[in-house]
Amino acid sequence: MGAAYFSVGGLELVSVSIVYTVHPPPPAFSSSSYRAGYNPASEVPSPAEMEPDRPIGYGAFGVVWSVTDPRDGRKVALKKMPNVFQNLVSCKRVFRELRMLCFFKHDNVLSALDILQPPQIDCFEEIYVITELMQSDLHKVIVSPQPLTTDHIKVFLYQILRGLKYLHSAGILHRDIKPGNLLVNSNCLLKICDFGLARVEEPDPSRHMTQEVVTQYYRAPEVLMGCRHYGSAIDVWSVGCIFAELLGRRILFQAQSPIQQLDLITDLLGTPPLSALASACEGARAHILRGPHKPPSLSVLYMLSDGATHEAVHLLCRMLVFDPAKRISGSDALSHPYLDEGRLRYHTCMCQCCYSVPSGRVYTRDFEPVAERPFSHSYENSLLSVWQGKELIHRFITEHQQGKRVPLCINPQSAAFKTFIR
Ligand SMILES: [Zn+2]
Repeated sequence: MGAAYFSVGGLELVSVSIVYTVHPPPPAFSSSSYRAGYNPASEVPSPAEMEPDRPIGYGAFGVVWSVTDPRDGRKVALKKMPNVFQNLVSCKRVFRELRMLCFFKHDNVLSALDILQPPQIDCFEEIYVITELMQSDLHKVIVSPQPLTTDHIKVFLYQILRGLKYLHSAGILHRDIKPGNLLVNSNCLLKICDFGLARVEEPDPSRHMTQEVVTQYYRAPEVLMGCRHYGSAIDVWSVGCIFAELLGRRILFQAQSPIQQLDLITDLLGTPPLSALASACEGARAHILRGPHKPPSLSVLYMLSDGATHEAVHLLCRMLVFDPAKRISGSDALSHPYLDEGRLRYHTCMCQCCYSVPSGRVYTRDFEPVAERPFSHSYENSLLSVWQGKELIHRFITEHQQGKRVPLCINPQSAAFKTFIR
């Protein structure tokens, strides 16, 4: 399969899609080969008919609800950012996330469609952001019984890396890439979400960065070893773990503690060379050197599934490199031949950047665009107090809304709101 799905003009291309189910999520997951048993009339309601307003998820910080936009009846996601003004740290973090959501312009990165109108500044405590509503996420898809073909995996991995290349080109580290933060839609469109832990890359290697990042299973070895400075390679490691999880449908490194997490990694990759331990903290280095010398056992990756072809394992082994300096970049990973079919499929029937004319498909000149400019965080240094932050965020939201649609605000009398604030 795979190549047989494609024809030159794209006319015979069968799109991979997740079909909506009425209730409950995650949606059924389909490709042409599995569509025979479906009754489309009963299984594809319009999203608006699906469900009343309800909570759909919890990010690192904040709650997400599925709601209806009263201006056009469209189902959208509403995210509440609570406890914004508790202290200066949370104030900075939320303002950073808000600015990022408004900065992003990429189909594989979730962005803000709107921000609810804040009350007068004295009553301003919470921020509500509206984003596009996605049907599911990769975690739900992986643990569901729905079939996950090589074509699905290729088109998902392509989009993850395409979004990541954009983020990294803007100088942003996501720092919490995991299946639950990769939203997927009915047509397999994928968007990276949850920027609660994201930050701008630190160019100065002498500056310390927090170790409290990335869900443990997806945490890169340099973070597990207490490295004081890290870069975009930590996100690529997470993507490698997710790639293996898509192939094997189980978590690649599922440990009980950070030390055991490191042990599982060295079981697979072998004992790292001393050069890869240079930035590790004393305890981590001692732990690795004290243990037995382990040979690499990468051949077990071929046993993840039938989809673990030579090409797949080759790319996987370029992402799961212990030394971040030798790990492939997100941008270079996109050039790997394993992703050629995913690129073709994405740009033949899923993207917004190419279009069809009677004589065929007109492809964009740049399949994986970078950000127009780096994300600026210079304002953060001038943020010195919670009150000043409150004023700044209030002004940012008000300015962001100017000249746009009729502003929305929360109706505190609504029944849904009362459960929402809990
Ligand atoms: Zn395109």
